[in-house]
Amino acid sequence: MMISNQSGISGTTGGCSVPIRVNRNTRTDPTMVNVAGIMFGPNEIGIIAGPCAVESKEQLIETAKKVRNSGGAVLRGGAFKPRSSPYSFQGLGEEGVKLLCEARKETGLPFVTEVMDTRQVEYIAEHADMLQVGSRNMHNYPLLKEVGMTKKPVLLKRGMMATIEELLHSAEYILNQGNDQVILCERGIRTFETSTRNTLDLNAVPMLKHLSHLPVIVDPSHGTGHRWMVPAMARAAIAAGADGLIMEIHYNPDKALCDGHQSLSPEEFDRLMNDLVKIARSIGREILLPQPSII
Ligand code: PEP
Ligand code: MN
Repeated sequence: MMISNQSGISGTTGGCSVPIRVNRNTRTDPTMVNVAGIMFGPNEIGIIAGPCAVESKEQLIETAKKVRNSGGAVLRGGAFKPRSSPYSFQGLGEEGVKLLCEARKETGLPFVTEVMDTRQVEYIAEHADMLQVGSRNMHNYPLLKEVGMTKKPVLLKRGMMATIEELLHSAEYILNQGNDQVILCERGIRTFETSTRNTLDLNAVPMLKHLSHLPVIVDPSHGTGHRWMVPAMARAAIAAGADGLIMEIHYNPDKALCDGHQSLSPEEFDRLMNDLVKIARSIGREILLPQPSII
């Protein structure tokens, strides 16, 4: 692919410069991202759900079964956790990745898990179906290059203090290494508002889809920080045109070791999924349900 000029910028929209590989002008058809056969893109809407952190075999498998039975297409679960305090639960590490593999075997759901460090990329890429680069690492350029060198899809979360332009430049690092399987994720940004954990910037959904051919999903769990707000913002994200959602679900949110305050119970998730099916249909889309063969 030709780089149009030395800066790699091929267009400017509304004051936002968009690098060439992620730019919608470079590729007019939307990019489909294949997560172990689950296609994220303009057709169906993919729901990623599961606990913030993998805590135990029972917690993960029980939660994963609920996710699958309610129509979740991909399981999420952090094994290496980026915690603000070094004294908080840091995740089970490789043991957590092994449990995610067991949950995949048990439920048939592919999984996404976070990679925080270039030294973890090889191990996680060997086991996971998609690599998550978290908000805190959106600016970690060596990590972006490293995940770009794998053949695994990458879920790239917007930095909590990053502009849309910076998010697109981070995605460009991954595409530059030859990996175009990138899903962009709006997960809320820091503003002066303190009543919510972050300010979920739903403007990002139509803007990113306008500027780029990559799929865009929304994380209403970190975007709000409140369990009771998650359904409203999940519904709004689908109505705004998101290609999917990533949400925290826990079989017993009050006992969660991480982010229980923003995790839905399986019953709340099930109710929400029913609403999302209706909203998707009203805008001519469908929620991508797990393959009947795995239920
Ligand atoms: C997460 O998804 O568990 C997470 C830590 O999210 P973020 O990077 O958006 O804070
Ligand atoms: Mn979390």
